[in-house]
Amino acid sequence: MEELLKKYKEYKELLKKYSYCEFILSYDAITDCPKLDRPYSDEIQEWLYNKELEITLSDDYINLIYALNDKKDELDEITKLDIEIEYKELVKINKIPKDELKKHITNSYKSAYEWEEARKTLDYSKFLVELKELVEFNKKYIKWEETDTLKGYDVLLDDMEEGYNQKMYDEFFEKIEKDLLPFVKEVLTKEQKYNKKLDTLKFDISKQKELTKKIASAMEYDDNVGCIRETVHPFTNWANNKDVRITTRYQEDLLFSNLYSVMHEIGHALFQLHMDDKYNDTNIFNNVTCITHESQSRFYENYLGRSRAFIEYLYPILVELYPKELEGITVDDIYYYVNSVKAQFNRCEADELTYPLHVLIRYNVEKKLFNGEIDVDKMEETFNYYMKEYLGITPPNKLIGVFQDSHWSSGFGYFPTYALGSAYGAMFYQEMKKDLDVDADLRKGNFKNINIWLTEKIHKFSGTKKNLEIVKDVCKIDFDPDIYIKYLKDKFTEIYK
Ligand SMILES: [Zn+2]
Repeated sequence: MEELLKKYKEYKELLKKYSYCEFILSYDAITDCPKLDRPYSDEIQEWLYNKELEITLSDDYINLIYALNDKKDELDEITKLDIEIEYKELVKINKIPKDELKKHITNSYKSAYEWEEARKTLDYSKFLVELKELVEFNKKYIKWEETDTLKGYDVLLDDMEEGYNQKMYDEFFEKIEKDLLPFVKEVLTKEQKYNKKLDTLKFDISKQKELTKKIASAMEYDDNVGCIRETVHPFTNWANNKDVRITTRYQEDLLFSNLYSVMHEIGHALFQLHMDDKYNDTNIFNNVTCITHESQSRFYENYLGRSRAFIEYLYPILVELYPKELEGITVDDIYYYVNSVKAQFNRCEADELTYPLHVLIRYNVEKKLFNGEIDVDKMEETFNYYMKEYLGITPPNKLIGVFQDSHWSSGFGYFPTYALGSAYGAMFYQEMKKDLDVDADLRKGNFKNINIWLTEKIHKFSGTKKNLEIVKDVCKIDFDPDIYIKYLKDKFTEIYK
């Protein structure tokens, strides 16, 4: 056994170095990399990724993991889970023919690149070619990975969120359609309460950067462990619990878009940073499921960031930065503005109330795509149909419509986890308020107690727990979507009364 473990550690050391280089390169490629150098950067990333695959798909490595998995009960808890995760991934990846896998990797880099290019020209023809390849690959992937219990689109959903399938998501979204949609439609007819001057203001970007720094520091995310750069579609990436980097996007007329994007990404970042050191360099560190991760990012962004208490802390900071622009604007104006419910196209900019519907639109498109009801060319039409059905509007183009998100340029099955993450967040929020005076802390911009609470209850465990287990451990009850629906109805009834 000792020999096996020694060999495993040696392999892991090498793989860790490859993936660290990849982490740096990919962060750079999507942020600061000069446009003309991007294809070269992508080529190096692909080379590194293939180097990793050479190891992980070699007979020597596979035999090693299989041997360790056979004797896993002799291992300590952390190594055992680490090996189990590695074994599961290897079994999955080994079902894909090697030439198909290689082709798919190249296709993934290309489609991400073409997605970004199409945004500049509005010509999506090259992206569509790559997207069709991607969908074809995923359809074949489903066939390779199908089991007696896991069929069709469920294979992709299970990949993103183990244990979740169409039936579970359908049940959740049926509730959203039945219990929440009529309420959303009613709110959409109400008049907005904020000072309309807020719609026309421009906010100097260098001051937005100051604001970002201030809020990041209040949230306890700083330069010692983090980094904030600019990109088109904000994301968070990490190497270990000492290096977690986020991105944002500054736009003069959208001050709050940057603010909430930063709070969202810092939510992801804090989760990784608060993980116990012992999980660094193991598969457990990357084993947190999408729903759990989104439950944290959307927690900081919405439950905390869009609360009245936080706005009371934020208001004087904003007035100090933008005294002229915010003349005549009150705390209430800001609170109503950041919580204004609108039928609009952009998912990332969507208010808390219409948000689950934006997700549901995408879930419907994916479901139809992989259940064989539509093909790639019909994605836009289907997307627009549901946008009209739920929100009463039709996007004028693909840029702010069907292909506004980067997700479909890399995979499928991610979107539904966003809505579930929000629903979990509502449960955690209700529970946190029993232990802490959350509002009193937020009014002071003090995230310390909140961070400690989340670390102790959720973050420190890293990827050792499944999401439903976390809910049960933290809230002492099973997942209950009614808590989410009630939170939304209470909050927006008060705002629009
Ligand atoms: Zn997120």
